[in-house]
Amino acid sequence: MNELQARRDIVESGRRLWLRGLIAAGEGNISIRLSENEILTTPSGVCKGFLTPEMLCVTDLDGRLVRGEQKPSSELLMHLTIYKHRPDVRAVVHAHPPTATGFAVAGLSLEGCAHPEIVLLMGGIPLAAYGTPSTQELGDSLLPHLPTHDAFLLANHGAVCVGKHLWDAHFKMESLEQYARILLTARLLGGERPLPPERVRELEALRPKFGVTVSAHCIGGEECPSCNAPRPTASVAKFHPVAPRNGPAASAPSEEDITALVREVTRRVLERMK
Ligand SMILES: [Zn+2]
Repeated sequence: MNELQARRDIVESGRRLWLRGLIAAGEGNISIRLSENEILTTPSGVCKGFLTPEMLCVTDLDGRLVRGEQKPSSELLMHLTIYKHRPDVRAVVHAHPPTATGFAVAGLSLEGCAHPEIVLLMGGIPLAAYGTPSTQELGDSLLPHLPTHDAFLLANHGAVCVGKHLWDAHFKMESLEQYARILLTARLLGGERPLPPERVRELEALRPKFGVTVSAHCIGGEECPSCNAPRPTASVAKFHPVAPRNGPAASAPSEEDITALVREVTRRVLERMK
């Protein structure tokens, strides 16, 4: 990994997170794994919208400062826990996206199979138990979900996304917040209509084609109306289905019903025109 490019990528990711309102003031932190034992991370206590490449810190996998003038991110322990348990992860983005964090503060996960892109790319976003920020407890709260998922809500706190490279993790954070906004809107409009199980299977089967390695299935398991996959890990939050106002998508009128309806309306209109 080219360290200069990694520094530039973190600066740009921080600027975009801040401009999109996914972090405010000194919130959030970003890291890249430079090599087996070196992590490049954002400094503590500065706005990540205004970073410069030389402000970043390099630490070892135990969090000891190797290069840099500033104090490394206060959430470094969480980043290190992720790298230790997931050798495939090369970058971590932590932010406080307001809508997704609203779910996390309300004790709700973003599980459930309601949006094809989320099912395909992430398979759902679990809610990790609360841990005090900057302590090992926060990293440990991710452990039950870490083997199967790439995006997580942190109870009463925010969100974390991991990736094969920084932009993979960064765009997962954008998608996570986008999905939270979509789900909130759907619930204001009467509740999401879950995808039928066979549609969920089709999306999961597409993952290799898109280079998606995540093994997550809907964590709602038997409780998810669309996904009957076995529950891979314990979750602190359970999926809360909201009864759809118009019934599930699976029971929408058939093509025959619609054809018959159109025929009947046409007949009546023609009758009136006589
Ligand atoms: Zn945070």
